[in-house]
Amino acid sequence: MSLLEVRDLRVSYGSEDGDVHAVDGVSLSIDAGEFVGLAGESGCGKTTMAMAIPQLLPRNARISSGSVTFDGVDLSALDEQEMRKYRWKDISVVFQGALNALNPVQTIGSQIAEPIRVHDSSVSSAEADDRMRELLEAVGIPSRRSDDYPHQFSGGMRQRVMIAMALACRPRLVIADEPITALDVMTQAQIIDLLQSLSARYNLAMLLISHDLSVLAQTCDRVAVMYAGKMAETGPAQDVFGETDGVANAQHPYTQRLLRAYPNIHRERVFIDGIPGSPPDLSRPQQGCRFQARCDVAVDSCATVEPALVSLGAGHQAACHLVSGPGSEITS
Ligand code: SF4
Repeated sequence: MSLLEVRDLRVSYGSEDGDVHAVDGVSLSIDAGEFVGLAGESGCGKTTMAMAIPQLLPRNARISSGSVTFDGVDLSALDEQEMRKYRWKDISVVFQGALNALNPVQTIGSQIAEPIRVHDSSVSSAEADDRMRELLEAVGIPSRRSDDYPHQFSGGMRQRVMIAMALACRPRLVIADEPITALDVMTQAQIIDLLQSLSARYNLAMLLISHDLSVLAQTCDRVAVMYAGKMAETGPAQDVFGETDGVANAQHPYTQRLLRAYPNIHRERVFIDGIPGSPPDLSRPQQGCRFQARCDVAVDSCATVEPALVSLGAGHQAACHLVSGPGSEITS
């Protein structure tokens, strides 16, 4: 059994123009200690899907169906009080934008130690402070800086503080939502190295959300690509983002176009090929494949029949009518 099982999840946002179906029947599993990447354009539903796991969705969001099972417990059936037992202790989140997420009038040490004391009454203040200092050192910040405030740190250092906070209660799953987006390239590399080493050290499972495909390809065991609230393709990172004899292994036309829209220093120099058009309006669900208006290989059935995920073997799946594999069609 996987540590996390998201099954056929549907999440919508209420708006004046009607419900926006941000996540529409998405499934995903993560094993203990596994590093899984989630990619896709802005608005494809990846953050909504991730925030539905610890039930941190905004008030106007509604989970209409599906389940989120963590270590055998259906989190979607828990009330707010029961859910609090899982946040921080079992599942924690590294939010994007560390400056906004940190309290500017509280020292970083107290912000890391606080969740330890709140979520584990058996831990004394002295023990919480010891663990806070250990965490600061683990993320590369000298523990003597525990009395400093967020504004006294650079962007990369603040992101390290956020990671230390996420690890404060020794969770088994960390959801990192675009943890490197606002950082320069050198700091991005350091933060990714840090996440990988912490994952190995603490046997953490990680759901890493990023639009940077190279980062996901480099760091993740498995990756998932979402498009317009649906799962387009998922599988081992090498099967989805890698190449065989210079040909991309990706099977879904959207994943292939995403990869072509990204510079690759190992290939000969080519003009970057963007994806024309825009994603569909998710408040008006359409028939057929959601990528049809932007797909340059679409066939007649794409306009009327929604493609299901097809198994291509070894955990690789893609939802496209042009894809066929050794496995049978996957229904959820
Ligand atoms: Fe393109 Fe059709 Fe495949 Fe959708 S199902 S990605 S429109 S070929």
